Amino acid sequence: MNSKKEVIPEEEIKKAIVSVLKKKKIDSQEMLYSEVKKIIRNLNIKPERLRLLASEIPEVLVTVETKSGGLKVPEKCPACHTKLKKIEAKNLLNKKVVVGLKCEKCKYYGSIKEFSPYRYKFEIKEK
Ligand SMILES: [Zn+2]
Repeated sequence: MNSKKEVIPEEEIKKAIVSVLKKKKIDSQEMLYSEVKKIIRNLNIKPERLRLLASEIPEVLVTVETKSGGLKVPEKCPACHTKLKKIEAKNLLNKKVVVGLKCEKCKYYGSIKEFSPYRYKFEIKEK
């Protein structure tokens, strides 16, 4: 078996991403990875790297969403029942997102990731 790791040109990977997305929208990083792998069988990069390559393609739109369903963000502090304050920050796509909740009374802090895992969506930009 050949142990030499083959380097797949980024351009080839990007072309595969575009051809996948021209057929359908993809709503997770893992799904994009498995679809691209159907085209490039020896794909040997991480799904995170694939996502970054997708975001470099001008005609591809990558959006980040919190998973819907099963979202249980508390409104009130679980410790003292004071209304929680949302903490916002800019994500990688420069969009404002809620990253956590804090209680100003008792200093409780909950990260939004505990309540809602992130999900990426990939699609071809509409002209
Ligand atoms: Zn509290």
